[in-house]
Amino acid sequence: MPEKKPRKSTSKEVLIEYDIPDNRHNFDRIWDLLKEEYTDAKPSLNYSNPLELLVATVLSAQSTDVQINKVTENLFKKYRTAWDYASADIRELEADIYSTGFYKSKAKNIKAAAQLIIKNYGGEVPQTMEELVTLPGVGRKTANIVLARAFGIIEGIAVDTHVKRVSGRLGLTRNSDPVKIEQDLMSLARKEDLDSISMTLIHHGRKVCQARKPRCSICVVKELCPSSIIFIGE
Ligand code: SF4
Repeated sequence: MPEKKPRKSTSKEVLIEYDIPDNRHNFDRIWDLLKEEYTDAKPSLNYSNPLELLVATVLSAQSTDVQINKVTENLFKKYRTAWDYASADIRELEADIYSTGFYKSKAKNIKAAAQLIIKNYGGEVPQTMEELVTLPGVGRKTANIVLARAFGIIEGIAVDTHVKRVSGRLGLTRNSDPVKIEQDLMSLARKEDLDSISMTLIHHGRKVCQARKPRCSICVVKELCPSSIIFIGE
């Protein structure tokens, strides 16, 4: 635990909101505690094949898994293959996913991704990071999720807004770029833990280390977290 209250930075970046000390030496202890706390950390998007997982993950940006599951319940009955999305009327697809937010860009990306999947991969979702990130709307975060959950291939760590915020507050990274945060976390984690780190940090971010008001007083890693003094002191 740091002795002095860290200086507040003028930066608007969440990760460098305060000058949070480097805390990577405590990673193993932090990880053990979080792993024990969130033994039930499982992905909550519903899907039954790689294409459905890809679409659900693209849709999940800026939305909640509960909302996405409501939308995909009907969506997956209507669009069953890459050909269905590729040939979809764009206005109709937009209407079908409207409630997920950013529906225009999501519909455009899903349709274009389906067309590329047909053109380059015979209608099957590709199984490598290099190929997946060529698809519109698919970055490393989505690709990591699809590789791990649909194919059992652990390539890296999916970094979303919760992973970004929590790992920054814990002093495990000073980066704000998700690719660099992923590299930082991968340099600390054991290979067998790569798959569960993302989901565990997401659960912690949703339940305890919330964006606006982190619940440090009930946090299992508060004794090891350099940010606790900032928020508990507020
Ligand atoms: S102590 Fe507070 S800031 Fe640190 S991880 Fe826990 S909830 Fe987040």
